[in-house]
Amino acid sequence: MNQKRIAIFGSTGSIGTQALDVIKANPDLFTAEILTAQSNDELLIKQALFFNPNIVVIGDEKKYQTVKTALSHTNVKVFAGEAAIAEVALIDCYDIMLAAIVGYAGLRPTLNAIELGKPIALANKETLVVAGDIVMRLAAEKRIPIIPVDSEHSAIFQCLVGEGRNKIEKIVLTASGGPFLGKKPNFLVNVKKDHALQHPNWSMGAKITIDSATLMNKGLEMIEAKWLFNLDAHQIQVVVHPQSIIHSLVMFNDGSIKAQMGLPDMKLPIQYALAFPQRIANDFPRYDFKKPSTLTFEEPDLKTFRNLALATDALYKGGNMPCILNAANEIAVFAFLRNRIGFLDMTEMVEQTMAKVSFIEQPTLQEYFDTDAEARDFAASLVHM
Ligand code: NAD
Ligand code: MG
Repeated sequence: MNQKRIAIFGSTGSIGTQALDVIKANPDLFTAEILTAQSNDELLIKQALFFNPNIVVIGDEKKYQTVKTALSHTNVKVFAGEAAIAEVALIDCYDIMLAAIVGYAGLRPTLNAIELGKPIALANKETLVVAGDIVMRLAAEKRIPIIPVDSEHSAIFQCLVGEGRNKIEKIVLTASGGPFLGKKPNFLVNVKKDHALQHPNWSMGAKITIDSATLMNKGLEMIEAKWLFNLDAHQIQVVVHPQSIIHSLVMFNDGSIKAQMGLPDMKLPIQYALAFPQRIANDFPRYDFKKPSTLTFEEPDLKTFRNLALATDALYKGGNMPCILNAANEIAVFAFLRNRIGFLDMTEMVEQTMAKVSFIEQPTLQEYFDTDAEARDFAASLVHM
């Protein structure tokens, strides 16, 4: 395999740092060419000094001088600001973008990379939730692959390798159930952020950890799967599998089911996406069939975890509804993480915003941007933020 130059958007996050671990472990296969961060200047500088990228961008412009000064003795080009993060995606100096920014903020840089004709290793699911039709259409036009990093979607992608035109009957996304599996609303009403941030199987960024606790994450993943694999809503099912060993399944039209399994470790789907179509040997811990273990499956509790029901509604409704859902949810999670609202209020906020913002059946990109802004404003007005 030729050495691939990787542009990591969101290099200081949970996915970004694990991707750099993968690059560090495979220096003949990968180099880090672009690194971007929102506010963690200290870590960005450390990463730049170690990986010697072509370009770094710090989103927070107040931190430009600090980064610039720390890297003044190197050849690393330093930029700052939200616009710069999107603009550097248009500079032709990399082979693949790892889209690892969290939330709606990841959409524009990713669109720019596709515009430039660069393959995408996609962790940022919100990009597809917000504007999946436009993103996938542009990728098809440019003939570039969108390779999923999200573990469930990586599993499905891996199950589909070699299947050609064989028809999918349905896909089954597995959900760990999060830290509050089996709990009821009378418990959830009092849940505080520290408890919600304790995920049983995965260590991830704050936003996705809260989304995993509310099951919104699985809802976003249903919408992500629709676009990635060109499915109808009714072909997408969620099953709770608390052990997180089966990462997802595909059932074909003959009833045969393929599953992808392994210990939960995001480095695996990250390195798979970066090296695709090759696999890279590693020394990560292996699943051991000799150790006693049971794999279980159950239906999600949609009455308690209503976010998953709301996301399913948005999936079926289509148009700008997933965009509305996502924007309201980003505000809700932000407010919950600042102790401004309770755990169950997050769902209320999303539901009210979905009822309020005008529905558009086939939005343009600008209409998605406008919908996002309107939904954020409305959701924020509910907590007087
Ligand atoms: P994180 O919060 O740990 O990191 C987010 C990164 O994005 C950081 O580098 C941060 O600087 C940057 N960022 C944040 N806000 C930004 C903004 N407004 N503009 C530009 N950059 C910004 O998040 P994470 O857990 O690494 O998740 C990243 C994405 O990957 C999310 O979309 C998440 O859903 C998805 N994902 C994560 C995991 C996981 O294990 N962490 C698994 C599957 C999917
Ligand atoms: Mg996932």
